[in-house]
Amino acid sequence: PVVTRFAPSPTGFLHIGGARTALFNWLFARGRGGRFLLRIEDTDRARSTPEATAAIIEGMAWLGLDHDGEIVSQFERAPRHAEVALQMLETGHAYRCYATQDEIQAFRDAARAEGRSTLFQSPWRDADPADRPDAPYVVRLKAPRDGETVIRDQVQGDVTFRNDQLDDMVLLRSDGTPTYMLAVVVDDHDMGVTHVIRGDDHLANAARQGQIYAAMGWDLPVWAHIPLIHGPDGKKLSKRHGALAVEEYRAMGYPVEGLRNYLTRLGWSHGDDEVFTTAQALDWFGFEGMNKAPARFDFKKLENVSGHHLAMMEDEAILAELDGFLAATAKPPLDGIRRDRLSAAMYCLKDRAKTWGDLLEKGEFALASRPIQPDAKAAAALDAVSIGILVELTPQLQSASWSRNDLEAVIASFMDPRELKFGKLAGPLRAALAGRTATPSVYDMMLVLGREETLARLEDVFS
Ligand code: GLU
Repeated sequence: PVVTRFAPSPTGFLHIGGARTALFNWLFARGRGGRFLLRIEDTDRARSTPEATAAIIEGMAWLGLDHDGEIVSQFERAPRHAEVALQMLETGHAYRCYATQDEIQAFRDAARAEGRSTLFQSPWRDADPADRPDAPYVVRLKAPRDGETVIRDQVQGDVTFRNDQLDDMVLLRSDGTPTYMLAVVVDDHDMGVTHVIRGDDHLANAARQGQIYAAMGWDLPVWAHIPLIHGPDGKKLSKRHGALAVEEYRAMGYPVEGLRNYLTRLGWSHGDDEVFTTAQALDWFGFEGMNKAPARFDFKKLENVSGHHLAMMEDEAILAELDGFLAATAKPPLDGIRRDRLSAAMYCLKDRAKTWGDLLEKGEFALASRPIQPDAKAAAALDAVSIGILVELTPQLQSASWSRNDLEAVIASFMDPRELKFGKLAGPLRAALAGRTATPSVYDMMLVLGREETLARLEDVFS
């Protein structure tokens, strides 16, 4: 059975690249009936914070990336890491190195002066145990000096590292704490991780980690190192490009299904499919579609995909997600009449909105209560002439039966004799009913608001 994991370091917010890594691991496992685990790599005590851990958990929950089992704290597993290092000492795959920082530096200086490799070669590697001093030491891996370490990567192909270019890495520091390299391997092994999908900035680490697996006689996981995300200009992703916290995408109002869809496409593709559901992604996702080239982050594309998903959502699902959006952005909740009106208006709002903010802006007519406060553009549309037109129109509307056909007929017979262009009437109507100039059609608004509210809003303007 497939077991994947997401292993973030809780040193900052969950950024979009991390979210993509989590999503890929989640899709890979869930699409195969496997398990998806979460391990917090909190060994860097100075930089790890509980706030960052909370943000990671919260961001993943919002993205719908549920994990199996308990959250594993890497820090809490330090005794187990030390135990494995001890085992490697016993089997001769590791050794105690007493070299001081000064001695290591001196080795490097001499090597540089003589034009040799500056990779440290410890004199303790083959020392006689009888010669051990009573002094602090680190535990180093007795790494192979000849030959090659080959990483079979599902994305990058076979990547070869010459062993003479990998030094005897430290496994345990002199204070007994494990290094990152050791901790990752022991944890992945103990957690039964079968597939490691992560950023290709970890590719060189894989070579070193492979040596630890070999020393322990453990089975290697399947590795897939995915290219990092770049900005639209091909450069490293920056804040301006969208290297933001997942929280910020939530606040920007992207429907989660849309963001998941877009993130899935960052570095993976399935033919020409751009818009797909999470269920489809679960069906399709695998190593075949992974790209070797860095993905480019593109806000326009994200908006488009987001808009498609918003339009496809059921009204009930929209309202549920809107509730979450309003709560997350500290906006007042949708209550009674506002909720009912927005529901009734949904059919004319969801097709053109790309974000929750868009939807709420277009739906302002349904959400606002009397007296309507026009924004600057709408206020300008309500000049004396326009108000005069609304004054004349109101009695005609009073006698309408309030079906779409009837309203259209009333307005047509109002405009014709006056040789009035539709825009001359619709502009002031939009301003009076919504306090906005960009709104759904005036007919949709009148139908959603109903006769009484429509007439009351008109009268507010000229009374
Ligand atoms: N903690 C590492 C990071 O945040 C990930 C380690 C891994 O996936 O092996 O980059």
